[in-house]
Amino acid sequence: MSIAVALDGPAGAGKSSIAKRAAKALDFIYVDTGALYRAIGLAATRRGVAPVASPEVEALLNQITVDLTFNEKGEQAVLLDGEDVSGLIRTPEASMAASEISAIPAVRAYLLDLQRNMAKTRDVIMDGRDIGTVVLPDAQVKIFLTAAPEARAGRRYKELIEKGMDVRYEDILQDVIKRDYNDTHRETAPLKPAEGCVTVDTTELDFEQSVEKIISVIKEKIYGAE
Ligand code: C5P
Repeated sequence: MSIAVALDGPAGAGKSSIAKRAAKALDFIYVDTGALYRAIGLAATRRGVAPVASPEVEALLNQITVDLTFNEKGEQAVLLDGEDVSGLIRTPEASMAASEISAIPAVRAYLLDLQRNMAKTRDVIMDGRDIGTVVLPDAQVKIFLTAAPEARAGRRYKELIEKGMDVRYEDILQDVIKRDYNDTHRETAPLKPAEGCVTVDTTELDFEQSVEKIISVIKEKIYGAE
């Protein structure tokens, strides 16, 4: 049977970079489910469809295909109608569009089987907001990875500046706070720690320490030892 690690937590807690490293070390596939919501957000933005529950959004879902592919190194790419949009979905605008569109129940239902199927045949670390609560409630390991909003905004700010983007820390912090609010207050699959999860707070941990902590939690749960 394949092993599933459900990794949930708020925006900017470092889930993706930490999980990528841990997946590599453990020889698991890292699945970033946020990319799916981002791709749908991009599709809506491109077509001028507002990110609110509406017949237009439902029609949009019937017209598009979204998929994740993995290369031989296990690196993920997200495809929107066959186009690799992995780079295009990483802007602050795309983040906000994803946060808004992900509150729509039809969007969440649309992505459910796709996510579940990915965990059926391979060992995965799946990163999202509702993986332990909704997508893979039977995952052998459930982790809630969090950090203070200021720490998360600071890390994202650094990341975007390093990519050459022209952003302000204050704007990023406000985005983080708004996305936290959206994620925790939506009616369908709100962000919350799953039953039986291990909470890891990375506010005071650096990247390497966070990776080590996650790997040790996973090993302990699966093998009963560090
Ligand atoms: O993880 P990432 O920041 O890329 O996710 C983008 C947005 O998609 C989040 O703000 C969140 O609202 C939404 N999301 C979600 N459920 C998931 C993954 C992401 O609602 N499983």
